[in-house]
Amino acid sequence: MFDYDLVVIGGGSGGVRAARIAAGHGARVAICEEYRYGGTCVIRGCVPKKMMVYAAHFHDDFSDSAHYGWNLSVNGFDWSTLIQNKDKEIDRLNGIYENLLKNAGVILLHGRGQLLDANTVEVDGKPLSTKNILIATGGTPTMPNVPGIEHAISSNEIFHLKQKPKSAVVVGGGYIAVEFAGILNGLGTDTNLVYRGEQILRGFDNAVRDHLAEEIIKKGVNLKLNSNIASIELGADGRKNVTFIDGSKAEVDCVMYATGRKPNTDGLGLDLAGVELGAKGEIKVGDNSQTNVDNIYAVGDVTDRIALTPVATMEGHAFADSLFGGNQRLPDHSNVASAVFSQPPVATVGLSEEQARESHASVDTYTSDFKILKHTLTDNTERTLIKLVVDGESDKILGAHMVGPDAAEIMQGIAIAVKMGARKADFDATVGIHPSTAEEFCTLRTKDK
Ligand code: NDP
Repeated sequence: MFDYDLVVIGGGSGGVRAARIAAGHGARVAICEEYRYGGTCVIRGCVPKKMMVYAAHFHDDFSDSAHYGWNLSVNGFDWSTLIQNKDKEIDRLNGIYENLLKNAGVILLHGRGQLLDANTVEVDGKPLSTKNILIATGGTPTMPNVPGIEHAISSNEIFHLKQKPKSAVVVGGGYIAVEFAGILNGLGTDTNLVYRGEQILRGFDNAVRDHLAEEIIKKGVNLKLNSNIASIELGADGRKNVTFIDGSKAEVDCVMYATGRKPNTDGLGLDLAGVELGAKGEIKVGDNSQTNVDNIYAVGDVTDRIALTPVATMEGHAFADSLFGGNQRLPDHSNVASAVFSQPPVATVGLSEEQARESHASVDTYTSDFKILKHTLTDNTERTLIKLVVDGESDKILGAHMVGPDAAEIMQGIAIAVKMGARKADFDATVGIHPSTAEEFCTLRTKDK
């Protein structure tokens, strides 16, 4: 009756996973993507960003190495080498994504998908009839309506700048702003991070926020809190003349906004199929990712649940297993760990102390603020923070937080324990790996006052 059992709109992490798994279960699946397969994470997000984080970190590594006896002469940094090598790897990954889909028997279409009704998706003027539709169109950066905003870039463009900016203003205090402030600063750009609130990383544990702010300032980022840009004017040689709300001014090569992302729902024809949207333009879905229209589903950033790649893939996989694999299951959004790849990185799972105190009668915290062993030989003043938030009644770990080298790598294991319902006594009973930074999680004995 229909051309397909499933048409997926959007070839990012959530859409690709869902298409691949559905096809593996025997469904006839087509997927369309208007840009490049891989989506934000692979093409212009997590993956290229992490490569740039590695590049930036060499700055500290080179100076630290001198204290271990290395005598290096560093003759500068070549932006175009980084960008070219990064692009090569992204091309490779883009190809891998396409092959994964092809090998699974998914029909790949290049073009923008649009709903004509609840059973028809048009791709580049060609209508496809389908029993089910999955929308996985992700999100896109939003920039406020500031005079001169057209002279600013978003995270989409930073990956393709022809030259490394000598100076930059990064606006925002969330994941992307903090990560790119660290990248640019590490690569030698004179970097200003401008955030409108009291402290960066709103929503994270306050100890983490304060600790990271101190560390990035020590590394040379000029952090301007309670500030924002009032206007941007184009100056000589393409430089940007920035005026801040307090009247102060800066002249920089680059202004980058990282002021949030919005779900990609414009022009998708969702109204023609009667799909309900929420206040931010996100597709409203139930726990099983189903919209108000029975045969239309949505996963990933377009649903504005938790905007993280592994969450989108979890949602896409659960959707495909449930609808086509005879295995009804729901994605589980509890205790999702995440990391901010700032310098130093932040990683966290569960509740912040502030969130825990709102929902639990008795909360204990254990914090350690220390210099890692590596820096006992260097003159690097970076300090590492480790914090556990514990339910004072049940002894259950409610949250674990870290700011310091390898935080993401360490937190992944801690997240398994927290997901399993570990108690503080379990952490205490675990023998540490010595000498390591991670062992601190097993040696926190003194409650914070
Ligand atoms: P976030 O929502 O994390 O942060 C947006 C920031 O911009 C906030 O600090 C916000 O301030 C500020 N802001 C919003 N509007 C304005 C404005 N008009 N003027 C000035 N500042 C403003 O968004 P990001 O863009 O950083 O990232 C989007 C999402 O992508 C993240 O939430 C995360 O889920 C995901 N992501 C995850 C990464 C990872 O896992 N490592 C990396 C990158 C992105 P305020 O706090 O006051 O609202």
